[in-house]
Amino acid sequence: MDDIDYAASVPPRIHATKKCPECLTQLELGALRCHMCRTKVSVVDEKTGMAKRTINWSAYFICLLSWLAFGVYIWAAFLKDKS
Ligand SMILES: [Zn+2]
Repeated sequence: MDDIDYAASVPPRIHATKKCPECLTQLELGALRCHMCRTKVSVVDEKTGMAKRTINWSAYFICLLSWLAFGVYIWAAFLKDKS
């Protein structure tokens, strides 16, 4: 278990707070959501002191599903054998 880089997973405590990427409100380092604009936030960026945005997985999933539905529609409307 010596090959795990613990330093990379734990943010260095050089910032006392982090800033919301949407409204620039000062947040606690452990905050998961901005209390002003309700944006989900991640760990602090060491260089800027800004909170990183979280990845919106449901949006990716809906996008994928939409493209799939579009593909099925194109296939059914134009490519399916109509005989
Ligand atoms: Zn905010």
